[in-house]
Order: sequence, then structure tokens, then C-alpha cells
Amino acid sequence: MAIAKVSHSAQPTYDVIIIGAGVCGIYMLHRALELGLNAIVLETGHGPGGTWYWNRYPGARFDSESYSYGYSFSKELLAEWDWSEHFAAQPETLRYLNHVVERFRLRDHMRFDSQVEGAEFIDASNQWRVRLVGGEVFTTRFLITAIGMLSAATLPHYEGMDTFQGESFHTYYWPQRGLNLAGAKVGVVGTGATAVQLIPEVAKEAGHLTVFQRRPNWCAPLHNGPIDAETMRQIKNQYEEIFDRCAQTPGGFLHGPDYRDCDALSAAEKQHFWEELYRSSGFRKWLGNFVKVLIKADANAEYSDFIANKIRQRLNDPQTATKLIPTDHGFGTRRVPLETQYYEAFNRDTVELVDLNETPITRVTALGIQTTARDHPFDIIVYATGFDAITGSFDRIAFEGLNGKTLREKWQAGPRTLLGLQTAGFPNLLTLAGPQSASVGTNFPRGIEDAVDWTADLLSYMRAHELHRVEATEAAEDEWTELVRESYDGMLLSDVKSWFNGYNSNVPGHDGDRYLVYFGGAPEYRQRLAAIAANDYEGFRLSKH
Ligand code: NAP
Repeated sequence: MAIAKVSHSAQPTYDVIIIGAGVCGIYMLHRALELGLNAIVLETGHGPGGTWYWNRYPGARFDSESYSYGYSFSKELLAEWDWSEHFAAQPETLRYLNHVVERFRLRDHMRFDSQVEGAEFIDASNQWRVRLVGGEVFTTRFLITAIGMLSAATLPHYEGMDTFQGESFHTYYWPQRGLNLAGAKVGVVGTGATAVQLIPEVAKEAGHLTVFQRRPNWCAPLHNGPIDAETMRQIKNQYEEIFDRCAQTPGGFLHGPDYRDCDALSAAEKQHFWEELYRSSGFRKWLGNFVKVLIKADANAEYSDFIANKIRQRLNDPQTATKLIPTDHGFGTRRVPLETQYYEAFNRDTVELVDLNETPITRVTALGIQTTARDHPFDIIVYATGFDAITGSFDRIAFEGLNGKTLREKWQAGPRTLLGLQTAGFPNLLTLAGPQSASVGTNFPRGIEDAVDWTADLLSYMRAHELHRVEATEAAEDEWTELVRESYDGMLLSDVKSWFNGYNSNVPGHDGDRYLVYFGGAPEYRQRLAAIAANDYEGFRLSKH
């Protein structure tokens, strides 16, 4: 579509600019257009899909059941889309999101290859001036971020990384043209959820695979499988129950906690239950476990031992097994990677595990990776080294609010928000799936549907009341930020270095002492959203000017 160049006139180019064409941006655009607003999505990528557009590494797939991940807002969409697997792979999800874009005629309102560099609030006109890399500028009444929680990929800082003569890249930027791994010597740095999906796939193809591990994670089997036509028909008949179930669980998944007191059960009863969990698919062995496993150290240690035994049983070499079993944190206190034959990959002669605690990487050379022990020559180096989670995508855009204050400055010591949806000093900026929302801790589409619907209702309310400006009050923001901090209390994960707490060793100052996720649970969050809306958006300052 033709985009008008700005004009710094009182009339903005758009009512709504949404940054990001991922799961969240797609739905927000749909809702904004339904309201009759003049809306556009600006997207860095060459097509829609966000996380599912970028992450094209082999093995990338849902850890949520496919049918709990699709959008729930359209019965027609649910009726016409068939998932081929219980946990669909990236190409299928990308097809699905493209289908949604076509079906709801959203593509004409999306502009690709358009990376937002900065945005500045113009106090006098209640508008945001949005600047693209390359210099183009637009104005808008409302600026809505849908920029992803795991979209700011981070690389390590090893000396010599730019001198490597083979191919090297972060998993997020896996080459879109594809890559022939057959017979190649491949190095993978990192053992998080991404690497755990990737490694078994690379192991099947590569001539030799070396995995560089700093800290192991507790991984558990995904148990994926195809969905046949009859099963898909049954799923379609059950969508209402499926989404009702998701709406009741803290994480928006099909799996909710088991509230039985595990201390009151015998060892045999627990063992029986945990065996059943281990055989079940998806996140049940994490999120469908006894509540105490996530809040009591002794219950957690017992379950961690159970999982450690499973890991040992799956590995031929006891020393490798020992290295793959975490000792610095208990099961489920970091995001649990779900796997398909991950441990078995290390039973191959062609797969080697390098423990970076024993032999750290000293540098990257033209030919490969050098550790304190030796040189590892590679054709391909893959950095599965994660993301500057949740706030990283905000830090990469220069948001400037009232009085020239930047969001980077404001959030330097950690984010401060109201509901994770707004931050004081930045009127008319709505941060969908922003830090301190519940959306960042849930099955993503379930969380963002709540946030998008709330935001669409707010826009509609403002129009009905001829209001032009919305801003979180500082008092309400202080209260929410404290509530988010308190939501970590009593959870074992609060003491563990992980992205839930803002830990990223490759980003200075991100030492794992930030409160990024509202852990009060999605049902509770949804109630708060509804109550605030019903109370004329209490905590938000709404005005005509
Ligand atoms: P991650 O969990 O942060 O893992 C990054 C890995 O790289 C860790 O093993 C980390 O080691 C290692 N690492 C980082 N910097 C390093 C360095 N300088 N030297 C050596 N090792 C280094 O990132 P991820 O695996 O990309 O996963 C991030 C999140 O994305 C997941 O938790 C999940 O929420 C999401 N994800 C979802 C799916 C899905 O839904 N299907 C799939 C993949 C990912 P340390 O542990 O020692 O820091």
C-alpha cells in the first residue's frame, strides 16, 4: 500500500501504529481494523510471523499443544484450520499465521522490511512520531508495541568471532535459504530450549557435532505425534472446552497444577504419578505437577532426583549423563526445554559434549572454536545463546516520552509499568506483552488475546468518550511494580539465574535480579484487567488533551 511520508501536521498519518507482525501484532491489527481505525503494522521482517518468521532452525516447534496455541477469536478460523501434529513445527505455524493474515485481509495494512528505530511523543498534539531505519517518519495517535518477548537475540562476546571463515549465526537468524548439514562439522554453543530442539536434528545430519555447554537444563520428553483426521475432528468439537481449560490455568496451558499435598502421599504414590507425568506429552510434567514441586525445596529435590534418574537411563555414558544433569538449580525453576531424543543424541559417536566449566572457550579462530584444552575445527558454528528477554526488544528502539525521557533510561534498573501495558511518562504508548504483564509468562496466544482485547476496548472507550490521551499514573505504576515483585515471593525460581529474572550473561547489568513477569497467574490478571476497565480505567489518567 502507499504510505504517505510525514508531515508534521496536526493530523496524524495513522490512528494506530503497531510495531511487529507476530502473533500479537496480527491480532491487534485485526481488532484495530474491526474498530474502523486507520491502523498499520510496521515489521522488520520480510513477512508476518514474528518469532515463527525468524526461528527457522531445524527442530523449531511448539512446546504448547497446537490446538491450545491457535487464535481463539474466530470460530470460522478454528473450523477451517487443521493441525498436522500435536506440537506443530515452525513451517506449519508460519503457514498458519500467513493464513490468518490473508483470511482477515490484513496484509495490505502491514509494511514489511520496516524496522522502527525510534519513536518520540509530541506532547502538544498527543501523537507519536515514529522513525524507521532509513529515515522515513510517520505519526500516530496510539503506538502499540507487539515486539516479542524473545526477539532480541544475543551473541556471546568471544574474541575472534568475526574471523571465523565458515558460516556462523544465532539460531534466531538461521539462514532462510536453508543449510546443508550433511557431513558437516558443526559446533553449537548453548543448551537452552532452542538448542535442545536443534541438537537432535543436527545430530542426524552432521558429520560431527560438538555441543558447548555452560549450564545444563532439566529437559523432559515432548512426546509429539501426528493428528489424524478423526482426532482433528474431535479437537474441533472440543475447542470450547480447550479454551475454557486454558483460561483456568495459571499459565494459559492445558496443564494446571495438582493441588494435592505431595507430602501426604507415599513414595510409591508419588513415583506412580511422576511416571505417568513423564509418559504424558507437553508441559504436564512441569505445570501439571504438585504445586509444592515449584515452591518447596525438598519436594523439588525429590522430583529433580526422579528426572535425573530418567536422564541417566537414557545415556550410554554415565560421565556424559552426569554433565547433562543440572546441579545449580532444581527442575522447573528455569523454563523447561521439551525434547525429542535430546539425550539419545549424545549416545551417537559423532556427538561430543564439551563442558565449558572444565574447558572454557578461549577464542573463536578462523577455523573453529578454541578451548583451554584444544582446537575444535568447524564448518558451521551455531550460537543458541538466547535473548535479552522481555525488555531487550524495547531497549533496541529509542522511545522518547515526556520531557525527553527515554524508556531505556527509565527501565535501566528494571521495568516499571502498570499491568505491563503502560508506563508513566509515555502517554498513548501501549506495550502488549510488555514486561510485568502476565502475557509473558503464559502460553503466548492465550496471554496476548487478553491484552489485545483489553487494549481494543480501551481504544473504543476513548473514542466513545472523546478522549485523546491515556497514561498510567505513577502511583498505580508503583503499586503494580511492587505486586509483580511480590509475585516472585515463595517461588523457587526467584533465586535462579534465568531469563524470567532478567539474567543474560551477554548483556551488562542483566544479572538476574529483575522482575519481568507477573506470576500471579493469567486468571487473576484477567480479573484485574476487567475490574480496571469496569472502573473507568482506574490507575490510568485519561484526558481530552
Ligand atoms: P536460553 O534458554 O537463554 O539458552 C541460552 C543458552 O546459551 C544457555 O544454555 C546459556 O548458558 C548459553 N549461553 C549464553 N551465553 C553464553 C556464552 N557466552 N557462553 C556459553 N554459553 C552461553 O535461550 P533459548 O534456548 O534460545 O531459549 C529462550 C527461550 O525461548 C526459552 O526459554 C523459551 O521460552 C523460548 N523457546 C520456546 C520454544 C518453544 O516454544 N517451542 C523453543 C525454543 C525457545 P547458561 O544457561 O549458562 O546461561
